[in-house]
Amino acid sequence: MAGSGGSPAGEDGDGEPDRPGALPVTRPPRALTLPALVAELRTAITDPAAPAARRRAAAAELARLAAAGVPGAHPDDWWGLRGLSDDRPLVDEGKPVRVTPSAMESALRCSLRWLLERHGGSGPTSTAQGVGNLVHAAAMLAEDASADRGALLDYVAARFDAIELAARWMAGPERERAEAMVDKLLRWLATNPRRLLAIEHEFAVRLDDPNRPVDLAGRVDRLEVDEAGRLVVIDLKTGKSTAVTGSELAEHPQLGAYQAAVEAGAFAEFGDESGGAALVQLGTSAKDAREQNQPAAGEGPAAGWATALVRRTADTMAAATFAAVANSKCRVCPVRTSCPVSGQGRQVVEPPTVRRPENP
Ligand code: SF4
Repeated sequence: MAGSGGSPAGEDGDGEPDRPGALPVTRPPRALTLPALVAELRTAITDPAAPAARRRAAAAELARLAAAGVPGAHPDDWWGLRGLSDDRPLVDEGKPVRVTPSAMESALRCSLRWLLERHGGSGPTSTAQGVGNLVHAAAMLAEDASADRGALLDYVAARFDAIELAARWMAGPERERAEAMVDKLLRWLATNPRRLLAIEHEFAVRLDDPNRPVDLAGRVDRLEVDEAGRLVVIDLKTGKSTAVTGSELAEHPQLGAYQAAVEAGAFAEFGDESGGAALVQLGTSAKDAREQNQPAAGEGPAAGWATALVRRTADTMAAATFAAVANSKCRVCPVRTSCPVSGQGRQVVEPPTVRRPENP
């Protein structure tokens, strides 16, 4: 502390000149709260490098706090020391598993991420998601190319301010992006050879199985019919990097789930023969929308693959264990701080590990 005795005249021993009344700014040892005190005591008694006397003293203090009912002081509250509370599967055998097409890709890519996001681990809606939701809503007004462009842009303008922007400067570029997507949608509609049956149509259908029935449910952006009378589900994509490669498209889980739904009779009032499904990319930097078509799932030597993929997803979602599988999306994974593969997630009683790169 400045001004303490024993220092050479004019200095306090750290080489800094004394300033009368000045106190050095240092990091406080911990907050003056009960939870911080409990945490420090728990750290002390579990630290094998701490002197035995210090660990004993910390244990005695913790015992005193536990007797006084302070939360976290009693070892019964140390969740990390407990065994598994329940090792049963998430869904009991014979009970239906609910699968939504939009969750399939996530569950198949990394089931731990799917599980944690499903139970509160997802992040808040991003600006890009907000813009995407608005464009989807505007697209409900555009049945075909005769849609009124001015009315669509007015719709976007009237609701744009409700989008939570990460920064004020983003308003101009993001609004231009939304308007560009509306224009791309209209140009795509002008060349779309199929006929519209329904927009934003909800569905729910059961895939029966005595061991594992699956309730496949969701909503399609557009349900169309091709010239052969087969149903084609269209999914509008508004992300900047949602385009998929040719090989990914062939077994794209979300499109496959839509086709499985068609074949299972989810749209029985319109038919049950699938003519394929398609992504329409509106959000990429390309000038025009890009339609990416998945062939009909009921044709060819791999017929039935889509329904099999839905069932595999249901098995993954109903399991007793969920695997962390490193993949190309780990860098932006919202639950990576709870993931052992990322190097950040650990049991609360384990010491922190050296941080590894975020993209395992
Ligand atoms: S960081 Fe990667 S491996 Fe870990 S939960 Fe997220 S997606 Fe899965």
